[in-house]
Amino acid sequence: MGYNVAIDGPAGAGKSTIAKLVAKEKGYIYVDTGAMYRGLAIHFLEKAIVAGETDKIVEACKDAEVTIRYEEGAQQVYLNGRNITARLREEAVGNMASKSSVIPEVRAKLLELQRELAKEQDVIMDGRDIGTCVLPDADVKVFLTASVETRAKRRYDELTEKGVACNLEEIAKDIKERDERDSTREIAPLKKAEDAVLVDSSRMTIDEVVRTIVELCR
Ligand code: C5P
Repeated sequence: MGYNVAIDGPAGAGKSTIAKLVAKEKGYIYVDTGAMYRGLAIHFLEKAIVAGETDKIVEACKDAEVTIRYEEGAQQVYLNGRNITARLREEAVGNMASKSSVIPEVRAKLLELQRELAKEQDVIMDGRDIGTCVLPDADVKVFLTASVETRAKRRYDELTEKGVACNLEEIAKDIKERDERDSTREIAPLKKAEDAVLVDSSRMTIDEVVRTIVELCR
């Protein structure tokens, strides 16, 4: 059994930034489960499926194979053998991922893959339901959050830096909607596991958050 660290929390809390740094320091493999949902979302979008078309999404799951490979230490996501990593962060992909992740067949498809990855190797896995559902016996569980304002501002800065025109209020609205959808869905909703440590990063530096988590690990 590998050593397993679960990091859950809402969109924009900094999970991937923090998890990557902890992985580097501790020698764990970083598994970004959101990227897997995004990978499937690209498949649905490419089939011109829109979010409400549940039957089509369930059907489309059958011919989608999402795989994760590590190339020079970086996670690469493949969809039916094609590297789609560069498209994962597009807004349309994030929205489709959020909407399609409420469908049980979509979650079941990725659950086994996630458990398989954690079985044999030391991993730090981030997502929404890792501590509660995917790895209920994880050695360390963290629920990483931050205020909506902080998360929206971080996303705004990230996009602005990339030269993408955006609007802070729109981003905050999008984050609120996504929080609502992720935490109220019936299957595997976003919620803190009872035994998870709550870390609110609103007023913490990246380094402070990393130190807090590293200290929880063996
Ligand atoms: O974390 P990220 O924003 O990349 O995730 C994209 C979407 O995938 C989230 O909005 C969430 O709905 C879904 N997701 C999930 N369970 C996970 C990881 C992501 O439902 N473990």
